[in-house]
Parts: sequence; structure tokens; C-alpha cells
Amino acid sequence: MSDKIALSAWPTPVEPAPRLAAALGLGENDLWIKRDDLTGLGGGGNKVRKLEWTAGAALAEGADTLVTTGAAQSNHARLTAAAAARLGLDAVLVLPGTPGSVTSNSGNLVLDGLLGARIHWAGDGDRGVLAGAADDVCRQLRREGARPCLIPFGGSSPLGARGYVECGEELLDQLHDVDHVVVALGSGGTMAGLIAALGEERVLGVHCGAVADPARVVADLTGALTRRSVTPDSLRIRTDQVGAGYGFLHEPAFEAMRIAATTEGIVLDPVYSGRAMAGLIAAVEDGDIRPGRRTVFLHTGGLPGLFGHMEAVHRSVTGLRSYSAV
Ligand SMILES: *Cc1c(COP(=O)(O)O)cnc(C)c1O
Repeated sequence: MSDKIALSAWPTPVEPAPRLAAALGLGENDLWIKRDDLTGLGGGGNKVRKLEWTAGAALAEGADTLVTTGAAQSNHARLTAAAAARLGLDAVLVLPGTPGSVTSNSGNLVLDGLLGARIHWAGDGDRGVLAGAADDVCRQLRREGARPCLIPFGGSSPLGARGYVECGEELLDQLHDVDHVVVALGSGGTMAGLIAALGEERVLGVHCGAVADPARVVADLTGALTRRSVTPDSLRIRTDQVGAGYGFLHEPAFEAMRIAATTEGIVLDPVYSGRAMAGLIAAVEDGDIRPGRRTVFLHTGGLPGLFGHMEAVHRSVTGLRSYSAV
């Protein structure tokens, strides 16, 4: 039985990217972009497919408030707020930091506010602190008579990841013989779902620094989805694009964003999809991805996060070329 609900129109488009392919040293017909940045809710992005399952389950169990955690500039938190609005529920987002900090008035937070979410600022701390704060928030909501449902970090439970099993199947309907699918790896559910549909050999995940042990996280989620044992060693994961860490601007990611934007008019984000594109570029350079193979880049969205990433904003604006009329 499934309580899945629809939060977007499907399928998302798959588009050829011949100019980007050429810039990367691939053949013109080798590279395609699966546009999961175009999912039709709250600014779009990959978290919509997971929320169709997790928010659907919340609705079925009678919840009236969605609670979730994430980074201050979390796309998942923003889309949880959007799903709540669409379904007539309340949303409480448990985020690290304090009100009035730099990250609290830009990017995803602008949309969180517009979407009517309430924010619980959890102060400094790691994932464990955030999870504890989210439990406290749920307890307090229950005392107040509300019926909260906690949506997992990044939406990456086995249930949420089913959205990406569906995406993998959808992709195979659109493009036959896919050799590589390149995707950003954050909380892991997106890669895990794709592997369940496409197999370990075809999916290349690019670790973005959001979790401590990405291979273990993805292996566990994939195992739960497929009901077979999946070992971390069997996964294709690049860990060379984290740089100074999750929130920091990684130079190759910014360069990848520039190349995608100037060759195809496709805008990536500095935290996830820019790193994933940098990983694709590195994979072509070291021969893991070769010309003549069909490669799909999964665009997972994240554009609002670009506007909340002060370093990326600064670098983009200082890159403005001037043209003076005489
Ligand atoms: C969350 C996110 C990812 C990573 O997806 P996971 O399922 O968490 O691994 C990639 N790109 C963007 C833009 C995201 O917001």
C-alpha cells in the first residue's frame, strides 16, 4: 500500500547538452541533463520526489505539522515548507544558527519565510544537536495539541528514497542505454534510489561533505530499498570535490558552474550540483567516463541556495564583464 501523493507533473525533461559535452572533451551526443531542478513545487529540486512519499505518509497518518532539520540554507527544508503549504499543513524547520546571522536573510530562508514556515533556531551544533532539537520541537508541538510528523534529514529514509527509484525508471523510459548517471551525494537518498533502479555500476555519486561516511549511508539505504546486501566498496563515489567543507566555496565547483552556465545556460548551485559537475569533469579527466558512452547528469536543483551563499554570490558578481560604449 502506498500513500504517495503528487507534488509535481512528471516526467521531468531530459535535454541534450552538446556544447557542455564538447567543453568537457566528450562527444556531442554523449551528455544529457535530467532536469530534476524543474520539479514543480516551491522553487524545485530533488527533494520533491522524496516528499511525495514522506509527506504523503504524514498526511495518511493524520499529521497537521511537518517538522524537519537541515542546514540554514537547506533546499530540503524549503521544499518541506512548500509541501506543507500545498497540503494545508504547518511546517516547523529546525535549523542551526541564531536569528539575525548572515545566512538568516537570504537564499532559501527568503522562500521559507514566504512559504509560511516557522523556524526553530537550534544554535551551534552538529547533526546530533539538530536531531535532539527536532525531537524537542515535536514533543512541545504534541503538548500544544498538534500532530507533528518528523520528516528525516534530507528526506533520506528508505521511504523517501523511493522517489529516486522512480526517477531511475523514468530516465530509462526516456533514454535507453544509459552508461553513467552522475549525481550529487548529500544525505544519500537520491543516489540510493537511482542505484536501486539502475544498479551500482552506472551511478556515480559525488560526495558534497554533508555526511561523515557517505559510502556507508548510501549502502545502507540501498540495502533497505533492494532487500539485498550492498557493500560500501561496490559503490562508485568520488570524494575529491568536498574541498574545505560543505559550506565553503570549492574552486572546481565554481568553475564547473561557470562552464555549465556559459555553454548551456544551465545554472547549478555551489553546494551540490556544482560539485557534482566538478566530479563529472574530473571523471572525464581521469578516464572513468570516456567519450562514446552515454552520460546523464542529474540536475538536482539548489538555485535558491546560490543566492544564500555569500562567497558564490560575490564571485559571480565580480565576474561580471563590463562593456563600455564609446
Ligand atoms: C539535497 C540535495 C542533493 C543531495 O541529495 P541527497 O538525496 O540528500 O543525497 C543534491 N542537490 C541538491 C540541490 C540538494 O538540495
